[in-house]
Amino acid sequence: MSKITQSFGVNVFNDVVMRERLPKSIYVKLRKTIDEGVALDAEVAEVVANAMKDWAIEKGATHFTHWFQPMNGRTAGKLESFISPKKEGTAITEFSGKELIKGEPDASSFPNGGLRTTFEARGYTVWDCTSYAFLVEDEGGAVLYIPTAFCSYTGDALDKKTPLLRSMEAVSKEALRVLRLLGNGVSSRVIPMVGAEQEYFLIDKEIFKRRKDLIYAGRTLIGAKPPKGQELEDHYFGSINEKVAAFMKEIDEELWKVGVSARTKHKEVAPNQYEIAPVFTNANVAADHNQIIMETLLKVANRHGLVCLLHEKPFKGVNGSGKHVNFSLMTNDGINLFDPGKTPHDNLQFLLFLAAVIKGVDEYQDLIRISASNPGNDHRLGANEAPPAIVSIFLGEQLTEILEQIEKGEIISSRGREKLETGVITLPVLKKDTTDRNRTSPFAFTGNKFEFRMVPSSASISDAVTVLNTILADKLGEFADRLQNSKDVIKEAKNIIRETVKEHKRIIFNGDGYSKEWIEEAERRGLLNLKSSVDAIKYLISKKNMDLFERHKVLNKNEIFSRYEVMLEGYIKQLLIEARTMVEIFVKDIVPSVSRYMKDLAKASFELKNMGFNAEVQLDLLRTIDELFKRANNQCDALKKLISQAESFEEDSYNKACFIKDNIFTQMETLRELIDDLEKILDRNYWPMPTYGDIMFN
Ligand code: ADP
Ligand code: MG
Repeated sequence: MSKITQSFGVNVFNDVVMRERLPKSIYVKLRKTIDEGVALDAEVAEVVANAMKDWAIEKGATHFTHWFQPMNGRTAGKLESFISPKKEGTAITEFSGKELIKGEPDASSFPNGGLRTTFEARGYTVWDCTSYAFLVEDEGGAVLYIPTAFCSYTGDALDKKTPLLRSMEAVSKEALRVLRLLGNGVSSRVIPMVGAEQEYFLIDKEIFKRRKDLIYAGRTLIGAKPPKGQELEDHYFGSINEKVAAFMKEIDEELWKVGVSARTKHKEVAPNQYEIAPVFTNANVAADHNQIIMETLLKVANRHGLVCLLHEKPFKGVNGSGKHVNFSLMTNDGINLFDPGKTPHDNLQFLLFLAAVIKGVDEYQDLIRISASNPGNDHRLGANEAPPAIVSIFLGEQLTEILEQIEKGEIISSRGREKLETGVITLPVLKKDTTDRNRTSPFAFTGNKFEFRMVPSSASISDAVTVLNTILADKLGEFADRLQNSKDVIKEAKNIIRETVKEHKRIIFNGDGYSKEWIEEAERRGLLNLKSSVDAIKYLISKKNMDLFERHKVLNKNEIFSRYEVMLEGYIKQLLIEARTMVEIFVKDIVPSVSRYMKDLAKASFELKNMGFNAEVQLDLLRTIDELFKRANNQCDALKKLISQAESFEEDSYNKACFIKDNIFTQMETLRELIDDLEKILDRNYWPMPTYGDIMFN
């Protein structure tokens, strides 16, 4: 075994470990729960808990934690030791089946959007046995992490994982119905597969510490453009390459140990920006792994004198970060349902699944957009970079051409290949690289999977995947109903495909998503263009969307409203933090620094004049600074006023968020411009913080 394969998964309570350590009958039962969703009985849990504890303790663990993913999009968990004191003053280690299955963290201060009142603050964590438990080792010792879902006393989901798991059930159920009707009697489960590419920035820790905006807001709120921007990659390469390489090596090692199949690569877009991508896996595991990746990036960066920025737009003027969520549906026996395949039968199936995507994405553009919304992404989507805020699907020429032919009811043929028999729906085997040319599409077919490129870099991928699963469950269910009620399944399947293309082709766009023409064209097509997250969020509670989630038991009304509240509150809080940070930086750092510089300039001009020089340069500069400074100060006052207005705003969160978006967001831009102008003309020795140049090219 090589070193890599030896260390891969050593800290995971995975299948191999389970098989080794569990009695066969228990192992078989647990596997049934993991693979088929069969309920777990108490006896099995008891034995598994004990084996898990022994394994963890042998590896040096002292504590375990129920690891969950609250609605703030991060992860949480309370550490509990395995110690159980005895009367005679000694202690033994204990971990019961009950402790494995259920936890009761005092979790009243996680965002719940009104789902729990404080007097009923109880929240429960419930073991998700489909995601392996793992051991995290760091300075604080070794801790057994047990992936869990988090819900309230009444069973409402308080986290991101529960809806994701429910949506996986929903899509599996409906996809299986379609497969059965098409004659597949073998597969017993359909699993959404996800591979999430993660982008991030790395900057020097010492520099980070001197930027209050990065500390408080995760992004720079001010900063003049350096003389050169993204084109200087090679420059930056030279200086920190070694450091980053060492960082990446450690990232790989850490991730492999906990079973995350990382493969890193450098992203050549913005200075100091990188990307890491694991190999795809089951959606819920991929969501867990993406959280582990983010946490590991932050932790390991710190050890290397670096800070990892996961924010969507840490710097103005250079590219921001996103997550590319690669998505497909796969049967438990390994058939990728988005693979065009070779035989006509497979292709009909493929086209039907493709139709479900086309119809679902068109009908639920708003939900797709919401699932990629957070305050940070407002600086990315539609901002001349990254995908636009308009949702559309890229299919590539070949596939689009085939769909066009299907729509017209023509003999189905493919370019460069011989004509095929009438009525036989077939496709050329698509080469991945021939389809993956368009980088500007928010939702691109890339050969045998879709790549959802709007997802925010700092967010959990769960929302995005939950929405994809749910809309697919809905469309596949709809198709299954029709197939079930028809006499000729094949004919009906073709009808569905043809109709879908006819009615929903507006969502297909293969051109340049960044162009101005597309925005106009999309408007003509009647596609939504929800420019900010606040605009998008209100669609979450539309009847159509609430019905969808309820229909598939992914979220009930209360749970939807709570998410709506949490999103709005998150927006409000984040923007107020940013605005207050900006005021603080201006008042406490910029005003004193500019004043000092002005004083020194004044002194210098006075002395120069006394010596008989004309000192015009100094005086001109002084006048310019004085003028800019006054204007900036006025705008800062205006921002302060808006902040207090927002803080005492009485209306509901939606209106408050709108007020902030329409006033504070724009006011911050106005103030920023003036501050950036000041930065451009101030002596660098007086500027109170590292500049963009210092951060990006140090
Ligand atoms: P890119 O050109 O975008 O880098 P890659 O082939 O490197 O594309 O894949 C990017 C991600 O997509 C990886 O995480 C990979 O594991 C994942 N991926 C590949 N095939 C599938 C699939 N069928 N379903 C889901 N994800 C997949
Ligand atoms: Mg990609």
